[in-house]
Amino acid sequence: MDFQQLNLRLPSPIVELNDERLAASQVRLWLKRDDLIHPDIPGNKWRKLKYNLAYAADMRFETLLTFGGAYSNHLRATAAAGHYCGFKTIGVVRGEPSDTLNNSLAKAVDFGMNLTYMDRSTYRNKHSAEVLNRLQDAYPGAYILPEGGSNDRAVRGCAELMSEINTQVDVDVVCCPVGSGGTMAGLISGSLPSQQIQGYSALKSRGYLDGEVARLLPGNLAAGARGRWQIVEEFHHGGFAKRSKELDAFIAEFDTRHELRLEWVYVAKMLDGIFTQLRRGEFCAGTRILAVVTGGSFAE
Ligand SMILES: *Cc1c(COP(=O)(O)O)cnc(C)c1O
Repeated sequence: MDFQQLNLRLPSPIVELNDERLAASQVRLWLKRDDLIHPDIPGNKWRKLKYNLAYAADMRFETLLTFGGAYSNHLRATAAAGHYCGFKTIGVVRGEPSDTLNNSLAKAVDFGMNLTYMDRSTYRNKHSAEVLNRLQDAYPGAYILPEGGSNDRAVRGCAELMSEINTQVDVDVVCCPVGSGGTMAGLISGSLPSQQIQGYSALKSRGYLDGEVARLLPGNLAAGARGRWQIVEEFHHGGFAKRSKELDAFIAEFDTRHELRLEWVYVAKMLDGIFTQLRRGEFCAGTRILAVVTGGSFAE
C-alpha cells in the first residue's frame, strides 16, 4: 500500500529540550515529535496502524472494524485512516449511545465511520472468540483490530519507531506513555541491548500493564529483554483520563518554558513523571533520555 497521499512527516523530528532543571542534573532530554506525523492520524496511532493498513489492503479487506471508549483517539484515528486509504470503518463503542455525539466521535463519523454500541459487560469480553466470531459474521469483509490497535503488526510499526530514533540520536533511556502497551512493546522490541525502556502508565494499572506488554512482545524477545524495561505506575494523576491540579500546573509551566502544550491524557503524565524522577535524583549524571511525544491534540 502506498501512503504517499497522506503526506506523512517522517522521520518525525527530534528536539533537545533546553531546560535548566536538566542542565543542573547533567541529564539530556530529547523529545521525539511523533505528534507531528499527521494531523488526523498522529503519533503512535499512525505507527500502530501502518502495517495493519498494509495487511488489510493486501488481503483485500474492504472494512476496518475496531473498538474504543467514547473518547478513544484510536477510533478517531482509524476512521481518518480509513477515509484517506479507502476503507470503510466500523467503530464498536463501549456503552450506550448518548443523544449527542461528543466531539471525538462526531469527528470519527465525519470521516465516514459507522458506529455501533456494545453494552459494557459484552465489551469486557470483546476480544473473546465468541464475541469476535459474532462480529465477523455480522461484518464478513471486515478486518478486526483490537482495542487500542495493539496487535503484532502494531508492535512492528512501533519497533520501526525505535529504529528511526536510533538513526537520529544516541540515547540510553527511552520513555513512552502506556495505555494498552503496544507502543511500549514495539519500542522494546526495536531497542538496542544497551537501552532501557521506561513506560509511564496513564491509568491505575497496578501490575496489569506489565502482563500486557509481556504478552505483546515477540516471543523470542520476551525473556531476553526483561531486565531492560519497566512500567512506572505512580503518575496516573487519579486514573485514566483523570487530571489533577498538579498535572495542570505542570502543563502550564511546560508551555511557558517550551511553548509546547502537552496532550494531557498520556504525554503530560509521562513528562511530569520524568521531571519528578529527575528532581529526586533518579537519573544519573550523563544519562541521555528520549521521550516519545506519542500524540498531541487532534486537529478539530
Ligand atoms: C493511544 C495513545 C497512547 C497509548 O498507547 P498504547 O500503545 O495503547 O500504550 C499514548 N499516547 C497517546 C497520545 C495516545 O493517543
